[in-house]
Amino acid sequence: MTIYDCQTCGACCCNRQENRLEHFHDYVQVFAEDALQAHPKLLVRLARQNKERQWHLKLKPDGSCVALDGEVGQSVGCTIYELRPQVCKNVQPGDSECLTARRERGLSVEPTG
Ligand code: SF4
Ligand code: SF4
Repeated sequence: MTIYDCQTCGACCCNRQENRLEHFHDYVQVFAEDALQAHPKLLVRLARQNKERQWHLKLKPDGSCVALDGEVGQSVGCTIYELRPQVCKNVQPGDSECLTARRERGLSVEPTG
């Protein structure tokens, strides 16, 4: 069953409200086993290391991931879809992460199909 259309959403590609309020910018972690780690130039462009030397994807001023193209809630695409970290793959349309993200961005949580 189709639940939500990710290509008109992108809410889970945005830092959580709770994090933003605490000025916490580490959102999507890029782990050693993630394919993006095998592309050092791209990794440095899209991610940064924190004090613990963990890599996280950079965020735009509006809190969305730098790899996200388009406008949240309208039309979006992941510019590194094949290389996106596992934590991105873990979110599934309709799961609790998805619903929380959509609510935070003012998007419907009613199934569309
Ligand atoms: S919040 Fe849900 S519907 Fe939106 S992009 Fe993420 S998984 Fe897809
Ligand atoms: S890497 Fe792609 S899927 Fe993951 S948060 Fe960024 S834009 Fe979204």
